[in-house]
Amino acid sequence: MKHILALHTGGTIAMTADSAGNVAPGAHNALLAQDAVLDGIEVTSEEIFNLPSPHVTPERMLELSRRIRTAEAAGIDGVVVTHGTDTLEETAYFLDLTLDATVPVVVTGAMRSANEVGSDGRYNYLSAIRTAASAGARHKGCLVVMNDEIHTARFVTKTHTTNVATFRTPTFGPIGLVTKTGAVFFQELINQAACPIDHVVDRVFLLKAYAGMDATLLDALPQDTAGLVIEALGAGNLPPATLPGLARLLDRGVPVVLVSRCFNGVAEAVYDYEGGGVNLAKAGVIFCQGLNGQKARIKLIVGLSGGKTGAALAAYVNNAVS
Ligand code: ASP
Repeated sequence: MKHILALHTGGTIAMTADSAGNVAPGAHNALLAQDAVLDGIEVTSEEIFNLPSPHVTPERMLELSRRIRTAEAAGIDGVVVTHGTDTLEETAYFLDLTLDATVPVVVTGAMRSANEVGSDGRYNYLSAIRTAASAGARHKGCLVVMNDEIHTARFVTKTHTTNVATFRTPTFGPIGLVTKTGAVFFQELINQAACPIDHVVDRVFLLKAYAGMDATLLDALPQDTAGLVIEALGAGNLPPATLPGLARLLDRGVPVVLVSRCFNGVAEAVYDYEGGGVNLAKAGVIFCQGLNGQKARIKLIVGLSGGKTGAALAAYVNNAVS
């Protein structure tokens, strides 16, 4: 008998719709009333918190990571986390970075609340439990299971506001499927070492570049800014008018991480013109490959919280696997 711990954190999967169609959290998490009974799998449910995911902070993510570590030490076979979909990818990636994942950790959610027609919550929950109990899910980092697909927390992202097929992995694709008979994997993730942390640094910001951008927003960042991620243009370029503000941040020692605002591909120092990636890399900007802006921010938070600075921080955040 496999023993799976289900940690509920809130989100649409735990909410119900009223007669006007408005979706809201109730006094009771809708999932607690529908615990799964599956052959050979015993599920223990725990409501660690009950929040819409826009209310989830890195501190909450750390609380969740700590709870999973305790459960691993106590001998649990796998963990399922239910979560609102809006920030699900950030929490899942935080867990991926901070846990050794000796047992499968699978995050899921729902696009339709518990009492809506075509509700996907219970189905995703059962799929996540099956995946967490499967032997193939071990040593693959934190996984996200939604709509019959198994994605890595590292690369998955929410792509649609309402569609049940919202979670996608641009560039790389899902690594497995939940079929009628169970979880099937057909890709392996290159693993990275966990960075255990005991606190989370604050004041790490995320900005998106746009045509005609200048230094206004960069200069508006507070003096105690601990780090900045910029979703840059194309392969990793910025408008020239941003450069004086960028230089001021770098002079202050603020780590600046660059990803692309493109949905597919990786950011690289390719273009050698004013504001081009080659110039930005020379100025000391850290290029991060393959992560989107919100995940690069989580990685920067974890790296800084783990005490990394300078070249060690850059090597950690650039996301290269050696
Ligand atoms: N706004 C909701 C949340 O993230 C959406 C969802 O759960 O799908 O909590």
